[in-house]
Amino acid sequence: MRIHELFQASEPAFSFEFFPPAGERGREDLLATIAELKPLRPGFVSVTYGAGGSTQDRTVELVSHIKNRMGLEAMAHLTCAGSSRAELRAVLDRLESEGIEDVIALRGDPPAGTTDFVPHPNGPAHASDLVAMIVEERRPFCVAVACYPEVHKEAASPRTDLKFLALKLAAGASFAITQLFFDNRFYFDFVQRATKAGIHAPIVAGIMPITNVTQIVRFTKMCGASIPEKLWAQLEVHREDSDAVARIGIEHASRQCSELLAAGVPGIHFYTLNRSRSTCDILTNIRTNAGSGGESSST
Ligand code: FAD
Repeated sequence: MRIHELFQASEPAFSFEFFPPAGERGREDLLATIAELKPLRPGFVSVTYGAGGSTQDRTVELVSHIKNRMGLEAMAHLTCAGSSRAELRAVLDRLESEGIEDVIALRGDPPAGTTDFVPHPNGPAHASDLVAMIVEERRPFCVAVACYPEVHKEAASPRTDLKFLALKLAAGASFAITQLFFDNRFYFDFVQRATKAGIHAPIVAGIMPITNVTQIVRFTKMCGASIPEKLWAQLEVHREDSDAVARIGIEHASRQCSELLAAGVPGIHFYTLNRSRSTCDILTNIRTNAGSGGESSST
């Protein structure tokens, strides 16, 4: 199934993101996590592509296993970073031959310790170029792209960032998934600005359940997302107590999701970090809370 069809349904779609672990033990653990999450009936799951294409083989293998052996709709992440067009074509060929129908086309980040993204001399420079390549080659993929409610770190301005999102969609992408955010006001404002700019494609909200303070500080620094003051104050007090941090993360994400659903989001994409507990608890909370209205996540 091509994922964009999900957004034509009246119900919002829930999706889960995983990264391909190193080693057989990590793979077995992840497959167990996915099996635990399967009863939650995700609309689709996705598998990331390691920096500079480092997990290329594992991404293709895992996405194929999830779709063809576990019976879940699965989307592959693909980045331009470090790859020529010929190398990207080879990955797309493999995905196609495995029956994968959905790809999220990304640029990738500059290598760690650097700030400028340098494309491969024979490779696409922007995600929009990768989308255009997939579409021009008449590949049978539904293509998603990334977007940034708090603005991409390298963007000259919110306006130009939105202009490049519009370019990715005009090149043939069907929907966008946001970078993680912890304050729904960023998402609502972003969707409003996008609509004003003529963007009407579904914008799926990306939610990361916090489970570890050091890790979330590293992630937010890397991607430019902010942590609301009140949430940060709670996390700091409990930073050494992993159960308390996970509970705070679950409560916050549950409030965020309930408010997003009440506002009519087309979908929520969970950055699961290959764990099942928080995502299970959040979905249970949301479904229990459905219809009773949600609190604002920004309070
Ligand atoms: P682009 O859309 O190319 O944008 C990058 C920057 O360039 C932005 O500042 C934009 O404003 C600007 N820009 C865009 N087009 C142009 C243009 N034509 N001319 C000038 N400037 C332009 N990374 C991974 O390595 N692997 C993954 O699996 C992965 N999955 C992700 C999934 C999601 C949902 C998200 C939100 C991010 C993911 N990332 C992943 C991170 C992503 O690679 C980085 O955020 C990267 O820095 C930008 O990727 P992009 O596709 O948004 O790039």
